[in-house]
Amino acid sequence: MAEDIEKIVEAFSDDLRENVRKMVASLKGASRTPLNILENAGRIQNIFDFTQEKMSEMFPPAEPIACQQGCTFCCHLLFFTDALTVFIVADRLKENCSPEQLHALRSRLTDFIDNEYGVTQVPRPPCPVLADGLCMAYDVRPLVCRAQNSLQVSQCEEKHQGKLDMVVAHDIPLRVWTVMSEGIAAGLAEAGLAGNESLEFVTALRIVLDNPAAMDQWIAGEPVFEPAQWTDSDGPPGPLH
Ligand code: SF4
Repeated sequence: MAEDIEKIVEAFSDDLRENVRKMVASLKGASRTPLNILENAGRIQNIFDFTQEKMSEMFPPAEPIACQQGCTFCCHLLFFTDALTVFIVADRLKENCSPEQLHALRSRLTDFIDNEYGVTQVPRPPCPVLADGLCMAYDVRPLVCRAQNSLQVSQCEEKHQGKLDMVVAHDIPLRVWTVMSEGIAAGLAEAGLAGNESLEFVTALRIVLDNPAAMDQWIAGEPVFEPAQWTDSDGPPGPLH
């Protein structure tokens, strides 16, 4: 029985990865426009939400999910994402924030980067997009943020303090995130675009907010995200849990 379920999940994962790859790989030639890039990024987030919700109904967590509005432990973790996500987050922030809010955000981003918090510092300060305990880009937050579903908030706190490496989490959202990230990376490579899931979010976001031409330059193949790219050949640090 367990083997049968695993086979179903494997087959579903393969289809999901392939569909995401095709969607992202379609960003070629004349269809590689800013509008299509943002629409593609939004569609990916919708697919993630829908898929993880349906899969979670079929394979519910062993205990209730502990995550609640206002709990921000996972917003203190280092994370990596892809270029499509960085563009949609930046676009939404520019659209929704006042000039004062944007100015404050850019100061937090600069502060964060200038202090070189690095990979290992714990506790790390929060993601600069967090303001008054809330994500300023919640509806377009990265897949990795959507995938965090802890079963025990006490473990999140211990991880935040550097006392624990792994938190017990619901496996389904993490699995959907991993599979979709693989599809995004494969699709970007096929479309000849840089910026797979190895972009450090804070650095990449500041690049886009600081440079209004960043998307056009990225479309033209310029290495706009180079300072944010994780370069270790083993790839960026894995899932947060
Ligand atoms: S993007 Fe939003 S949800 Fe993700 S770490 Fe930053 S503040 Fe938290």
